[in-house]
Order: sequence, then C-alpha cells, then structure tokens
Amino acid sequence: MTHDAHIAIVGAGIGGLTAALCFHHLGYRVDVFEQSPELKEVGAGIQISPNGQRVFEKLGLDQRLKEQGLQAQAIQLMNHAPSRAVARLDLSKSRAQGGYYLFHRADLLTVLVDACSDAGVPIHLGQSIDGPTSLQQHNFDLIVGADGLHSNFRKLLNPHSRAFFTGQIAWRSVVENVIAQPAEAHVHMGPHRHIVTYPIREGRDLNVVCIKEQADWSDEGWNHPDDPSILKREFGDFSGLLPVFDRVHSLHKWGLFRHPVADTWAEGNVAIMGDAAHPTLPFLAQGAVMAIEDAWVLAACFHRDGVGGLQAYQSIRMPRVSRVLAAANSNAWKYHLANPIVRGLAHSALGAGSRIAPARLVRQFDWIYAHDVTQDVT
Ligand SMILES: Cc1cc2nc3c(=O)[nH]c(=O)nc-3n(C[C@H](O)[C@H](O)[C@H](O)COP(=O)(O)OP(=O)(O)OC[C@H]3O[C@@H](n4cnc5c(N)ncnc54)[C@H](O)[C@@H]3O)c2cc1C
Repeated sequence: MTHDAHIAIVGAGIGGLTAALCFHHLGYRVDVFEQSPELKEVGAGIQISPNGQRVFEKLGLDQRLKEQGLQAQAIQLMNHAPSRAVARLDLSKSRAQGGYYLFHRADLLTVLVDACSDAGVPIHLGQSIDGPTSLQQHNFDLIVGADGLHSNFRKLLNPHSRAFFTGQIAWRSVVENVIAQPAEAHVHMGPHRHIVTYPIREGRDLNVVCIKEQADWSDEGWNHPDDPSILKREFGDFSGLLPVFDRVHSLHKWGLFRHPVADTWAEGNVAIMGDAAHPTLPFLAQGAVMAIEDAWVLAACFHRDGVGGLQAYQSIRMPRVSRVLAAANSNAWKYHLANPIVRGLAHSALGAGSRIAPARLVRQFDWIYAHDVTQDVT
C-alpha cells in the first residue's frame, strides 16, 4: 500500500489514539476526530497487561508509560467476608514479558496524546462524526470508527446490532490508599457482587470499582454522581474495605452495557475497532487491551494489502476477541457465586491450586498475556 494514503480515525479514546500512532508508525498521514471539546479521561484506573504493553513497546512508548504506571506483582482473589485471600496469581511466574501495569486513565491518555502531538498527528476536537459521509470532503483512503460502545460506525455496518444492559451496575472512585494495598490488583468476591481495588500513582491512590447485579437500569452514561454512603449499604459486609469506603468523597455510578461482537468489522474503506466492534465486560481487564491489539493488526493489515486487507483484519481478530470476551463473561458468575456451599468449594479449589501449583494457575492466562499481536500479520 502506498504511504500516500490518508487515514481518518473517529474517536480519541485509548483505541483510537493507539490506532493513530500505529498508522503513523507505518508512515501514514493520520487525522483524529473527537466529539468532546476537550480530551479528558474519567477519574478511574486501568490495567494494561503485557499483551497491550507489547504494542506500546513497538511504538516506542513503553518507557514513558512505565514512568506513569505501577507494575503489578500479582492479582489476588479475595473472599469478601471474612476478608481473606483465596488465591494469588503471581505475575512473575507468568511466561509473558513486558510487565502488567496499573495506571490512572488520565495518565495513560496523556502519554498517547503527547505521542500524537510529537508525531504531528492532529486531533480535531468538538467534531462529532456520524459516519463516513461526514468526512466525504477530505477524500480519506481509510476511515476507522473507534467511537466506542455506542458507535455510529458499528450501527452503519451492523444495522441490527443494539447495545443491551447486562444486569450489572457499577460504582467507581479513586481514594487515598489508606489500606496500604501493595502493587497488586485485588478482586473481592461476594454473593451477586464484587469489588476490584488496585493502587495507582506510585501507590498513593487506590482505584475502587464496585459491581452489583441489578435487574434494571435505563441510562447509558458512566458519569452519574452518587452518594458515597451507598457503598456501606450495598457492600457493608466487605469488611476489609470499610476504611476505604470511609475515604470516598466522590462516587460515580453507571450501568454496564454491551452488544454482541459485531458481524461486520469492515466494508469498503471503513473499519471499526475496540469497543465499537466488541465491548468487553470489565471482569478480565481486557477491553482497552483488545482495542490496543486491534489497532496494531488493523494498521498492519492495511499496510500489507490496503483496504483489501480489512477482511484479514477481521479474520485475525475475531477468534481471539471472542475467546477473551467469553472468558470475561464467565468470570462474572465465578466472582458472584451466591450459594455458600458452592462458593466454599470453589474457593477451596482455587486456594489449593494457588498453593500447590502457583505457576500453573497464572499460566492458564498465558494465551492472553503472553500473546504477541505484533507477530500476527506477516
Ligand atoms: C469499570 C471499567 C473498568 C475497566 N477496566 C479496564 C482495564 O483495567 N483494562 C482494560 O483493558 N479495559 C478496561 N475497561 C474497558 C475499557 O475501558 C474499554 O474497553 C476501552 O476504553 C475502549 O476503548 P475505545 O477506544 O474502543 O472506546 P472509548 O474509550 O469509549 O473511546 C471512544 C471515543 O470516541 C468518541 N466518540 C464517540 N462517538 C463519536 C462521534 N460520533 N464522533 C467523534 N468521536 C466520538 C468518544 O468521545 C470517545 O472519546 C474497563 C471498563 C470499565 C467500564
């Protein structure tokens, strides 16, 4: 494909900005269009596993990111009450190279925005793009819809696909790390609910996400303020986290929405990626990482075969993304086991696995973390 090609990316989220940098890395001219008048991420953390870091390494961003992130040593599964460790995934025993990092979203976004600025990739703010016709006058050779969960581009390529409520709501906050949680992600599992905590910003702050099953929810945004006292009402039995709840001054609530993996990821010179193609429940911390992987493969396929490579992009990504989504979905019920006997048995089995074969426990995730997506397109 000629390097003269001009690429439009719609959406300046983690996926869209990474895609812009991947195309730039391969020598293309890129413009990014973002509907928001300013670039800012919500006040929340994000975990980027080694399979995502691999793309950042290729883009030369790994050092800058490592300075902003905290390297996680383990993922610990906890029982909610009494609060105790059930199993520990020791990340040093994983075969994946590159590190598993914990970021504040704003810090990760800043690194990507700065990299675009250094590369001379313009990000046009306050530009809401409904579809390819909005960009017709520019004659772009490729238009990428990285416009997230409620993507206009997905709806154009997949007219019957609708986002649906998953029956789960979540609250998020970033508080002072009063429990001195080490550089580990903790998943506190309780009946019909779970809480994820991990430190960010050199361990000073703690990212807290509390998830609960609930039958209905109408609004799709994820920025609704809520009264912090709700946490003690809904999660008061998560005894180890009461000192954390006491520190929550700002709390946001939202419903978890999803849509099925899109059937059509590309048509003509238009492609979709990230949450626009396949939103992932936050139970495996892979939604943004899958967007980052998409970005590399999309750029590499286009570089190899032009728009003719877009079908290969979908064929390469679809099986991996579908498997990751299925694994994330199955974590939802594993974390929320309600029957005390079943929960006790499941936790005992996990604990035994963690003690007897710790390397085996973490290596069952090698297919996710040790995968090198930069080798997927030859
Ligand atoms: C609680 C929670 C925790 C999570 N934790 C993790 C984690 O630890 N690790 C992980 O990998 N993933 C995690 N995820 C998932 C992750 O946040 C998403 O998968 C990821 O942000 C998707 O990136 P994206 O770029 O595809 O979409 P988005 O981040 O949604 O970006 C889309 C962008 O497109 C813009 N846009 C939309 N419409 C238009 C339009 N018409 N015109 C122009 N611009 C438009 C939006 O304003 C936005 O900037 C989590 C998700 C949740 C809900």
